[in-house]
Amino acid sequence: MFKTKKFFKFAVLALMSVFFLAACGTDDEGSKGATSGDSTGGDSDKIVFGVKFDTKLFGLKNPTSGEVEGFDIDIAKLLAKEILGDENKAEFVEVTSKTRIPLLNKGDIDAIIATMTITEDRKKEVDFTEVYFEAGQSLLVKKGSPVQSIDDLTKDTTVLAVKGSTSTDNIRAAAPNAPVLEFENYAEAFTALKAGKGEALTTDNSILMGMASEDDSFELVGGTFTDEPYGIAVKKGNTELLDKLNKALKTIHSNGEFDKVYDKWFEGF
Ligand code: GLU
Repeated sequence: MFKTKKFFKFAVLALMSVFFLAACGTDDEGSKGATSGDSTGGDSDKIVFGVKFDTKLFGLKNPTSGEVEGFDIDIAKLLAKEILGDENKAEFVEVTSKTRIPLLNKGDIDAIIATMTITEDRKKEVDFTEVYFEAGQSLLVKKGSPVQSIDDLTKDTTVLAVKGSTSTDNIRAAAPNAPVLEFENYAEAFTALKAGKGEALTTDNSILMGMASEDDSFELVGGTFTDEPYGIAVKKGNTELLDKLNKALKTIHSNGEFDKVYDKWFEGF
């Protein structure tokens, strides 16, 4: 297994510098919409990746340019460049936590690179590459909230989470008395938190940091209480594409390209 990174700190200054750098590092390589879902990464001349469209730092559709931007997107482009010789051969289709495995199994996408944790249960349905990112589940609350850790979650504190994520199961196990309100995607969950529909939003620290950077009246609290190693998923048995992705991941780790993309999005965290 190659090196992965884990971040623990959420310094405001560091966060600001990340967004400054991200804004400077404009990427003029376009992400295209989906055309068809029949490619396998084998003889095909493109790889269709299922990615998030509403998750800042990982996969977020820029409403002005119409392009999807983020760490997962940039890694997918690097992988397409390694495997097919051209980063524009990475195509992007929107998935949510709930739709990603069904869309893969239907053949609409070739691979999922969408903040997806490798779990034993999911391994029964899909095959995963090596770990390419390490996150951990945390809580996002309004600054000044009485909720400062999972120990403060009770039957009177509603927690917001997203359907199909590990976060919903994990929070039910960690705070069994707290009611959990589930949403279709992270944009809806954050809107609900801002509207006061719950005391906390829970998911990976990496995703919550993107939200906190958007609205500084919210903060992450209580550290992390799970390990969320991200992998890229392919259809079960698609060893051809899986091997290519693993090989390409190894290459971008050893030639420094992975680190460049990591630093572009997360330097200082
Ligand atoms: N990494 C977690 C998961 O795979 C939470 C993020 C997400 O919902 O994509 O479920």
